[in-house]
Amino acid sequence: MREVRIDPVSLNRLARLLDAERAGRLNNNVALARRILDGRVVWNVNATASGGGVAEMLTTLLAYSRGAGVDARWLVLDGNPRFFRITKRLHNFLHGSPGDGGSLGEAERAEYESVLAGNLDNMLSLVRAGDIVLLHDPQAAGMADGLRAAGAHVVWRCHIGRDTPTELTDAGWDFLRPYVSRAEATVFSREAYGPRWLDRRRSRIIPPSLDPFSTKNVMLPPADVDATLRYAGLVDRPAEQGSLAFGRRDGSTGTVRAHGNLVVAGDVVPRDGRVVLQVSRWDRLKDMAGVLTAFATNLSRLPSDTHLCLAGPDVLGVSDDPEGAEVLFECVDLWKALPIQARQRVHLMSLPMDDVDENAHLVNALQRHATVVVQKSLVEGFGLTVTEPMWKNRPVVATAVGGIQDQIVDAESGLMLADPSDLGGFTDLIAGVLDDDDLAQRLGDAAGKRVRDQFLGDRHLIQYVELFSELLP
Ligand code: UDP
Repeated sequence: MREVRIDPVSLNRLARLLDAERAGRLNNNVALARRILDGRVVWNVNATASGGGVAEMLTTLLAYSRGAGVDARWLVLDGNPRFFRITKRLHNFLHGSPGDGGSLGEAERAEYESVLAGNLDNMLSLVRAGDIVLLHDPQAAGMADGLRAAGAHVVWRCHIGRDTPTELTDAGWDFLRPYVSRAEATVFSREAYGPRWLDRRRSRIIPPSLDPFSTKNVMLPPADVDATLRYAGLVDRPAEQGSLAFGRRDGSTGTVRAHGNLVVAGDVVPRDGRVVLQVSRWDRLKDMAGVLTAFATNLSRLPSDTHLCLAGPDVLGVSDDPEGAEVLFECVDLWKALPIQARQRVHLMSLPMDDVDENAHLVNALQRHATVVVQKSLVEGFGLTVTEPMWKNRPVVATAVGGIQDQIVDAESGLMLADPSDLGGFTDLIAGVLDDDDLAQRLGDAAGKRVRDQFLGDRHLIQYVELFSELLP
């Protein structure tokens, strides 16, 4: 197991964004947390230190927790390719998708348990009786029993889920049941996500939150957005050499390299083109392919200066996401089969992952550059890729699935598509925003306000304090 270093960040930074009453409530709760934790460590365990929404949130919340004097720590578990294939299958099952078509039987259980037994050994040398351990997602669930036996308070937090159970979700939950039922409490992002057999009295709902100061969300002036996208070779003529400075989350400076061109299918986006953007992992449930098809087959309904950008991580060689490259190549093949007029307007982008901050800075610039941001997920646990552009006052068009329904108030702080298979309807919603600047402005402004009111870290941290007060009366 690997411990991720977290540099403390003062809560004042967040408190400055809040009105006096909200800041006061946050400070009171943090003082309460210090009192009830009384020197106990709050351990967080997940499968990856970078990439994806969970890593994103842990980075922020643990930094604030440490800044507030709580000993919060983060461990990333060790796995092998077989283990990650099984946990990805579990992830897909819980979303109701067959994934790679494999099953979750006794052989898979044996592999899962054996990898986690090794991780548990490691943890038992670190965790003391009375500590709190937050196990995140299916990858870490199997350690609940061993940690409780050692006297820790174990919470399992699940960041994924699906509104309506299916045979596959049931099969996924059957696999997890012996582990999850050993946790003292569980946390889900939405009420509907818990399995049928869950003991609701020991379960809490805590939706995710966004950090306004992270590299991905921090304010960028338009000139920096332009320069960044040109350096990366995403928009306009690529810069030929050199590098461009940007601020990292921890206050240090990083650089965007002159990448030439990160567009893996299509040309560089013209400078005066308006951008419709989806940022996602290359995962079938994010339906990048559906966005591409909707845009390309309904091109005549869209203003002629609009370009579609589909941006995801550079997946080649990434071990904990075996499906990523496959999904990216499927999209490239779809792109190749488009008529030339559509190919000129669609751009697939692969953002470097070797420097997570550089990747985040590029996402920030792309989201700020976009005229409309879309998220056409078929299933979505929460969808930070919706919260992020909302915070940046972008109008968002998204499917009404999972946690997206809690984020967007339809027709007020974004537009929602009820039926994810309605490609024409999806394009019409996008065209409606592109054709109406007032609507775009109104949706974007309301989106920013909604994130400020509901999805910042203070609400999230306070909900954790409430949970800890129940565990440590
Ligand atoms: N993301 C990123 N680079 C990429 C693609 C995605 O940094 O190339 C980020 C995205 O900005 C968001 C997170 O990964 O912060 C994805 O979180 P979300 O909740 O939307 O979905 P998940 O990937 O957890 O299913």
